[in-house]
Amino acid sequence: MSVRVRFAPSPTGFLHIGGLRTALYNFLFARHHGGSFILRVEDTDQERTVPGAVENIIEMLRWVGLEFDEGPHVAGPYGPYVQSQRLELYQQQVQLLVERSAAYYAFDTPEELEHMRERQRRAGIAPKYDRFSMRNSFTLPPDEVQRLLAEGAPTVIRLLVPLDQEIRFHDIIRGEIAVHSHDVDDQVLLKSDGFPTYHLANVVDDHFMRITHVIRGEEWIPSTPKHILLYRAFGWEPPQFAHLPLLLNPDRSKLSKRHGDVAVEDFRQQGYFPEALLNFVALLGWNPTPDRDIFTLDELIASFELNKVNRAPAIVDRKKLDWMNAQYLRMLPVDRLAHELQPVLHSLNYPEFPSEYVARVIALLRERVDRLPEIATFGDYMFVPPRHYDWEYFRKYWHEELPAWLEELSAVLEHLEPFVTERLQQRIRQFAEERGQPLRALVHPLRLILTGKSVGAGMFETMEVLGKAECIRRIRIFLTEQLPTIAEQMRTA
Ligand code: GLU
Repeated sequence: MSVRVRFAPSPTGFLHIGGLRTALYNFLFARHHGGSFILRVEDTDQERTVPGAVENIIEMLRWVGLEFDEGPHVAGPYGPYVQSQRLELYQQQVQLLVERSAAYYAFDTPEELEHMRERQRRAGIAPKYDRFSMRNSFTLPPDEVQRLLAEGAPTVIRLLVPLDQEIRFHDIIRGEIAVHSHDVDDQVLLKSDGFPTYHLANVVDDHFMRITHVIRGEEWIPSTPKHILLYRAFGWEPPQFAHLPLLLNPDRSKLSKRHGDVAVEDFRQQGYFPEALLNFVALLGWNPTPDRDIFTLDELIASFELNKVNRAPAIVDRKKLDWMNAQYLRMLPVDRLAHELQPVLHSLNYPEFPSEYVARVIALLRERVDRLPEIATFGDYMFVPPRHYDWEYFRKYWHEELPAWLEELSAVLEHLEPFVTERLQQRIRQFAEERGQPLRALVHPLRLILTGKSVGAGMFETMEVLGKAECIRRIRIFLTEQLPTIAEQMRTA
């Protein structure tokens, strides 16, 4: 039987890191086994459904390179893939359960249910539907039940949980899990508005969509015994289950926005690479080999094994994501990076630059930042002349003769051919020696004049990329516009 797995989000908001991890593990498992990866939209809680959420999920997954084989946007033989379009199926199926006495009608009002919970709270017992004291097909005479149904009284259908039974299932990641039926609630399966609850729709769809493996977050473990009972009641073979470990913040609290972004969209906007985010998320709970961290999607597919996924919670360490992104920044082809940086440059209102120039700037600076857009801010001076100068730094290297040297140096640079790193280094060194100075007496002020900053890439490499005309222009701007005001200050300081 070929593997069929599904990612089954409820469209209640943006796709989060946790959802991405679930989708990715389903995808890796499907691709590893040559199976199908299916998108199913679980929108039975209509009040929580957010318009545009499905599109966001599809778009974010596409951005990281995960495409579905079946789903609402690509169709497929087991559709529709949106639960709100399958209501009739759930209603038919739940009826079968009622006929087999595996489910029953209940007529309690919200107030009655609240009273029941209140009684349980006061008695110190866990809240659970009390089949024997409430108003349902067990406690009411059959003709009363018929009358209420005929009248169209508000009714739900509940799962009949057997009284004294152990419910067991095998989890591929966590092994045997056993729960006593005493601890399982008579779950509502069909609500009074005719909508199924998650449990009913989920099981019916997994069956009719021929899902072979259910791979989902650990928070769904408590629901699984109910699902097992449903499979039994329907007489269906349950799929195999694999529950993925929780994701935690570094302080071991539940993953939350308080510790930084959690929506995939936010990471995209901050300029993280989809490859890096995917690589990072792949390692939240699994690692193909302990001695490596960087993997391509193909490598992840080739080595994915569900039973190697950890049980222990995975810590979402954003510093590791930054590190990983920086690795990709160093690895990815500069042409692609230049193409992606252009809109950032544009948004900062920098002048237009040919892609070849942008590519050279990236090659120059990519070792020094974690994210591509930082090249535009950290390396702003590669696109616009410095607007601010680090004067503290300048003060350290100030020399009476400096204005004169800069005049002479710009004349020297004017004739320097070719204007490349090695020639620059050699010529400026010679220039310093001729004036009885160490190289740094010139390099440091030059760095400030050309970049405004005390740190950056190698000075001569930077000059080569900036180009002769721009270097000379910046020295001139400095001599004519900045120096007259600061020279006096430097002398008196
Ligand atoms: N709709 C559920 C969710 O939002 C799906 C859980 C499952 O995969 O069964 O996570």
